[in-house]
Amino acid sequence: MNLPGFNIDNKFVISLRGKKNKVDAGKPYAYLVEKERMPSGHIEEISTIFLTNKACPFTCLMCDLWHHTTDYTVAKGAIPAQIEYALTRMPQTKHIKLYNSGNFFDAKAIPPGDHGAIASLLSAFDTVIVENHPKMTDRRIFDFRDKLKSKLQIAMGLETIHPGVLPLLNKQMNVDDFEKAVRLLLSQDILTRAFILLRPPFLSEEEGIVWAQKSIDFAFNCGVECCAVIPTRSGNGAMEVLESEGLFESPQIASLEQVQAYGIGLGKGRVFADLWDLEHFSNCSLCFEKRRMRMEMMNLEQMIYAPIVCSCQVGEPDQNQLKT
Ligand code: SF4
Ligand SMILES: [Zn+2]
Repeated sequence: MNLPGFNIDNKFVISLRGKKNKVDAGKPYAYLVEKERMPSGHIEEISTIFLTNKACPFTCLMCDLWHHTTDYTVAKGAIPAQIEYALTRMPQTKHIKLYNSGNFFDAKAIPPGDHGAIASLLSAFDTVIVENHPKMTDRRIFDFRDKLKSKLQIAMGLETIHPGVLPLLNKQMNVDDFEKAVRLLLSQDILTRAFILLRPPFLSEEEGIVWAQKSIDFAFNCGVECCAVIPTRSGNGAMEVLESEGLFESPQIASLEQVQAYGIGLGKGRVFADLWDLEHFSNCSLCFEKRRMRMEMMNLEQMIYAPIVCSCQVGEPDQNQLKT
């Protein structure tokens, strides 16, 4: 593991951030519908609304979600209006994710006075998924759950359980905080999904794979229902500095394939590979599309398909370790 020669703290991360994108607090900054395999085993459509609100108070080293945030708390009523805006423009689905570039239960991001109106707008959905920091796991979640007709699921960043890397991510959380949050939510019958980073900074490609797999093991042992593996990206300022210092390199597409197959093979819960911007992790146009399609099918079916064979594979992680 490579250690940085500088202090990683809020000041360091914030000082390297560039300009935010222009956002409108009257509208979500994006919304989309995609297919996802449900815990029931059915493949169903799920909506995601990316809400515009105040930036997350945590300043994780690898996070670029602040790009689409405001510097101020949005007015009461703005978040329900954003949800309404998206819902009237999207097809009806049974499940919805509200992702707010931070923590749904951060009162400075989403005014708690709006929770009732949000719950009413979501009354037709079977499942509502929101994201939240493990350290913000408390009564506020249960109060919101009590307002909902839908089943609530909480998505939380575990990132990595590597004991040297997690503190350097400036997540201001340890693995015990994560486990405590999962267990408390489970005791309240609230399912959780974990975000896990593939090859965070300071790790080699091989270490990145091993620690993503260990992090999946840990998440399932805590009681998480679903893991989403996210290849670590640059693009927030701090990550570019680490890249230039040789402390970070983007993972390869083959590593994501390997970790996805490992997680699905455990059979302990759903494991998804995050395929957004996937071409960034590939350097072969011959096999990229086939690999993307294979991973998409594996996300949907939660089965392991035969690896794609291509002349570019010399030096990649051993694909023969994947089951067919
Ligand atoms: S807690 Fe999540 S949203 Fe907030 S800075 Fe960290 S990764 Fe980004
Ligand atoms: Zn190839």
